[in-house]
Amino acid sequence: MSTHTNSGLQDALKEYLYTPRYLDVIDSLTPTSIFRFNASETGIVDLFNDNSLIFLQELKNAIIRIKQQSFPGIDIAFEFSKLTVELTVDENVLLHDLSPKYENSPIQFVCEVIGMDERKSHIIETYVVCPKCFTEEKMVADFYKKVPKGYCGNPSCKRQLMEPDMSRTKTEYIQTVLIQEPLEQAVNNSPVIFTAKIYGSHIGKVFVGQKKRVTGIFKSIVNTKDDENDIVIQLISMEDLDLCDTLLPSDSEIEDYKRQLSDPKKFISKLVDSFAPEIYADDLYKDIKLSILLQLVGGVKTRKRGDINQLLVGDPSMAKSELLKASRRLTQKSIFTSGRGASAAGLTIGIVELPNGRKVAQAGVMALCSGGHAMIDEFDKMNPSDRSAMHEAMEQQTVSIAKAGINLTLPAQTSVMAAANPIYGKYDLERNLAENLNLPPPLLTRFDFIWLLVDVVNTQDDTSKAQHILSSYDMAYENVGMPEDKLMAYLNYARQLKPTLSKSTHMKLISVYNSMRSKSTSESITVGVRQLEAMVRFSMARAKLLLKSEVDEEDVMEVTKLLKSSYRSLRIDLDKGEGTTQHMITENSSKDYVAKQTWDNVAGIEKKLKYRDYINALSEHPKFDAVSAEKMWNSMVKECQIKQNGDGSWEKTV
Ligand SMILES: [Zn+2]
Repeated sequence: MSTHTNSGLQDALKEYLYTPRYLDVIDSLTPTSIFRFNASETGIVDLFNDNSLIFLQELKNAIIRIKQQSFPGIDIAFEFSKLTVELTVDENVLLHDLSPKYENSPIQFVCEVIGMDERKSHIIETYVVCPKCFTEEKMVADFYKKVPKGYCGNPSCKRQLMEPDMSRTKTEYIQTVLIQEPLEQAVNNSPVIFTAKIYGSHIGKVFVGQKKRVTGIFKSIVNTKDDENDIVIQLISMEDLDLCDTLLPSDSEIEDYKRQLSDPKKFISKLVDSFAPEIYADDLYKDIKLSILLQLVGGVKTRKRGDINQLLVGDPSMAKSELLKASRRLTQKSIFTSGRGASAAGLTIGIVELPNGRKVAQAGVMALCSGGHAMIDEFDKMNPSDRSAMHEAMEQQTVSIAKAGINLTLPAQTSVMAAANPIYGKYDLERNLAENLNLPPPLLTRFDFIWLLVDVVNTQDDTSKAQHILSSYDMAYENVGMPEDKLMAYLNYARQLKPTLSKSTHMKLISVYNSMRSKSTSESITVGVRQLEAMVRFSMARAKLLLKSEVDEEDVMEVTKLLKSSYRSLRIDLDKGEGTTQHMITENSSKDYVAKQTWDNVAGIEKKLKYRDYINALSEHPKFDAVSAEKMWNSMVKECQIKQNGDGSWEKTV
């Protein structure tokens, strides 16, 4: 370890570069060039491993020294100080394939940063001095080893232990981060997690939730407290994958789309037909496909969230997962996962222990997908802590944790598309949505639209379905829609737009809302403020999907049709203001019942909550507003149903 001094390494690299192949490259370099160097080559790997911290700098120095020879008499070091030197490696590995055979060799992989410790400092370079003869020697250290002890080589000093000169010690920041393989690469939805060390210029550029392409070295470090070694990845260079280029249509394609948009309904049909064409679509499925496209494009963020959340409920074999997976394919930043959770952090946020015993927060799916979409299958199977945390994630668009000395809030501007199965295996039309779902009603209200897919035998439908399946095997079958990559580019383009909502359109939205609300009977309030907000988001999204700069009445009317269709799937006819059987979330729920349910959901497994969280959650329920929520609270306090703890939180007395 660390046997090479800086200049020794520089000489060795200079010698290595002195081949026609490299000399040509070096000759062509300008001060702003990028020099790419393969660190996997024989003869280099060892040099690199012994000096990984200073390797890049010395490589650059060696290049400049060679370059200098072409400019006798002129100092070019300053001019070339901006030269970029990057390491490349041959091995692209998946993190779950890492094995001891990769030890000490540079590898490249893609990962997500899911947690990080505080930054610390360590010594990278110091001088040791012999106290007898004052011989001095420069010592270089690596992040995972202490500065080696130096013994004086002067025979008369008899291997005298040299002492470090602290005044000439250079230190550098170092930080421990937790990295996880991307969920889409994970086997069995169980991504592997590694501890990695970052240092130097990388510090301050790594954040929880980022996706990175990393070049690093896989090392095992002797753990003095344990017989087993710790595995650590030393990060050398990284590239942000969040900033990867968004796939967009070309200018001529955009012009072509704008021409086709002269017939908006026909164009929308084309988009819908292009989305998951393998899934047979009757009228209901066409509406669902359109709603999903609108979700992928999203609303416009104002003081309220612009992201749309939707839930598909229904019998198995209704292609719910397939719809989720097809949406995943159309988005660049998204994760398809199961509610069971793909990691210890689950869907929101959790705590994980580092090998050094420190606990750090670990970001879950909602935080990792911020700015994108989370496709969550088996939403009903999520763990209890996620249940309460998802309230916050889906409305405030943050996930936070406050325990074990960790206080962290991460952004989660994530649009959720979820699928859930009924508890009884098959959806029971005699029971309401909440009873069928094993999901708390307040959480259900987080979804803008809910779609129910019930498997009913219908001969005519079954025939068309069978024909559709057969036709996809037919060579003559022609897909009239757009290919998936073109559709993705189109949606990306539409997603960036920010149409405005004119006063008259706003009035139209309110009048449509009022007319639907007036038909809702007081005992089964089905349409509330949340539905109005959902309609605003969907209307914005429709204007975006049609590349409009302003939301118009047609958007409002078409979105109203979708809203009614979603209610119809739940067996509720908004035009009549009644359902064949009452199927809405709020059905049969007295205010006391709602207050109790909300308490349980907000309090979660810890069985305690904060006053503000409860009032916020309760006042969002259609049966409550801010004033009545406050009243409910006061009566619970008065009746001693709840009491305050020492830390300011509240819990039930019984
Ligand atoms: Zn000495």
